[in-house]
Amino acid sequence: MRGARPLFFASACGGATENHYFCSMMWNLWHGCHKKSEGCAHCYVYRRDAEFDKDSSQVTKTACFNLPIRRNRKGEYKVPPGTFMWTCFTSDFFIEEADQWRPDAWTMIRCRPDLHFHIVTKRPERIARCLPDDWGDGYENVTICCTMENQRRADERMPLFRSLPIRHKAVICEPLLEAIDFKGLLGEWCEQVTVGGESGPDARVCDYDWVLAIREQCIAASVPFFFKQTGATFRKDGRTYAIPRRLQMSQARKADIDLMHNA
Ligand code: SF4
Repeated sequence: MRGARPLFFASACGGATENHYFCSMMWNLWHGCHKKSEGCAHCYVYRRDAEFDKDSSQVTKTACFNLPIRRNRKGEYKVPPGTFMWTCFTSDFFIEEADQWRPDAWTMIRCRPDLHFHIVTKRPERIARCLPDDWGDGYENVTICCTMENQRRADERMPLFRSLPIRHKAVICEPLLEAIDFKGLLGEWCEQVTVGGESGPDARVCDYDWVLAIREQCIAASVPFFFKQTGATFRKDGRTYAIPRRLQMSQARKADIDLMHNA
């Protein structure tokens, strides 16, 4: 399963670039978040808002809340069929303040089975109570990814996330802050593990050995693996390198260690 492109590429809070879709689009239906765990220390939402003196801890509904169901003058949906929707990348889809808006979000997601919604969360403990009544074992057009940046969060989140009724699930270890042992919990339920270092001026180190150790666990469990980016401070064979932003993804590509999806 080595060498080909993974199921999807990951970005910011974990997410990135689709593989099987005609195009992709951001759908930031609410904005603002609260720092939840170690991976949030240098959150890009806070970093970017600070440039505009904006308080990132205020969670607000955005002007593009109803983007998936907007229509043009011909009555066609503005978001074309087959679009991969990066959903809620300046907040957390399962954050408490959004409980009042989430039912409408689910209704829109249900209305557009021709789109795929990709959701990343650090709050798996809130997922079960936030699912819609007709969720069953999950909507076919929704992938939910859980972020686990260190051993503490993997121990806490992996068993819980694994047990949830979600049709498409993936794990994201980004920013990867230390070696992680999944303790045998990886398996077919997980469609991909994405790993990446931290970006930004104060980026913490990401060690290549930690990346490879996760890859080994993916091989053992037959789970696709994607090394998304090195991060800005990358250690390999005991040497630490400062990697410019523009090279962080290409350097990861050069490592050529991705494991493709079996489909
Ligand atoms: S959960 Fe994501 S969006 Fe929220 S503070 Fe943490 S890194 Fe930022």
